[in-house]
Amino acid sequence: MNQISKKLPAYDVEAIRQDFPVLNQQVRGKQLVYLDNAATSQKPKAVIDSIVQYYENDNANIHRGVHTLSERATLSYENSRKKVQAFLNADSHKEIVFTRGATEAINLVANAFAEKLSAGDEVLITAMEHHSNIVPWQMLCEKTGAELKVAPINAQGELIVEEFAALISKKTKFAAISHMSNALGTINPIKQLIDLLHQYDIPVLIDGAQAIPHISVDVQALDCEFYVFSGHKLYAPTGIGALYGKMEQLEQMSAYQGGGDMISVVTFDKTVYNKVPYKFEAGTPNIAGTIGLGAAIDYVSRIGIDAIAAHENSLLAYAVEQSQRIEKLTIIGTAEQKGAIMSFVLDGIHPHDIGTMMDHQGIAVRAGHHCAMPVMDFFGVPATARASFAMYNTHQEVDALMAGIENLIEMFG
Ligand SMILES: *Cc1c(COP(=O)(O)O)cnc(C)c1O
Repeated sequence: MNQISKKLPAYDVEAIRQDFPVLNQQVRGKQLVYLDNAATSQKPKAVIDSIVQYYENDNANIHRGVHTLSERATLSYENSRKKVQAFLNADSHKEIVFTRGATEAINLVANAFAEKLSAGDEVLITAMEHHSNIVPWQMLCEKTGAELKVAPINAQGELIVEEFAALISKKTKFAAISHMSNALGTINPIKQLIDLLHQYDIPVLIDGAQAIPHISVDVQALDCEFYVFSGHKLYAPTGIGALYGKMEQLEQMSAYQGGGDMISVVTFDKTVYNKVPYKFEAGTPNIAGTIGLGAAIDYVSRIGIDAIAAHENSLLAYAVEQSQRIEKLTIIGTAEQKGAIMSFVLDGIHPHDIGTMMDHQGIAVRAGHHCAMPVMDFFGVPATARASFAMYNTHQEVDALMAGIENLIEMFG
């Protein structure tokens, strides 16, 4: 009896696909094969419906209104905050700040640390960061005179942990690390890195934009000071994301933007700021987006991140295995710990041509530098093609990808 009740239901990818209306279409006369999930994911009907429901029934501005619609909108908005809290296992919903996305969340933190850093200080990042987790720190360094240190990666695209550790010193005042690389798929040993940094009391921000749909996150277990992600890579709308920050950190940080909702009293002499997290949420926020994010978290939680990851990993393993028969194909990024991303190049064919020719076959892959130009430089390529998998992709789609690649190799002779 026990055994039966414990048995997990089989992962039903066909049923999941039914929840994503966009997948059911033809592109250039072929069934769409969407493999650009690391750029943005598709949205399930539950997310789309939550937004329609909000606009059709509850639309109002939040926090200030005493009327019913405003109360409903406020409740939904704050419920989404609690859903993000539960999803990340944060200690309090007040530690969740809504932002436009991962990029804005990183900028918010970098902006606040400008007051705390000065010449002689250092900020530590890694060589595999997305531009969104490089440029805000460069700007911080420009403003303060601090120096940016970059921990190197090896030929597999893995962070060299000893070199990372060797760059930590009393001068290090902040560190920012991606949980999972969008260009390579590498998953960093973030718990180990956070522990190393905490030996010197260095606050650390984890860029979870790529990890969040694939890896379950527990910010209390990780003990990171900050964790950021975007909704749109987690099956939620664009224009919404979240910053998790430890309360003691958020309380010390100055506001990012000025305006409505981030204040409690304004006179022309002095403005008294609102409490965390409202202090960081100036202006009317993306209310519908937060509601969509809440619905996406419910949807993903119902299926289970671990079940999703197991499915995606089997797709990646299958793709890697199938790709071995294609002699001209080289995978860029072969870390032992990696998520369901296959970046690759083809001998003699420019990645942009791969992207275009795949689209002619109804297959959406990305071609470019993936906002990680330093990674491209390291591997000595101008760009890669990238197939990235999500919960709704299938083994047949991997077959279509491989057939598509073989077709285009034939065309290019
Ligand atoms: C997508 C991504 C970002 C930026 O996210 P936005 O949604 O564009 O703000 C940052 N870091 C990584 C690793 C990403 O994959």
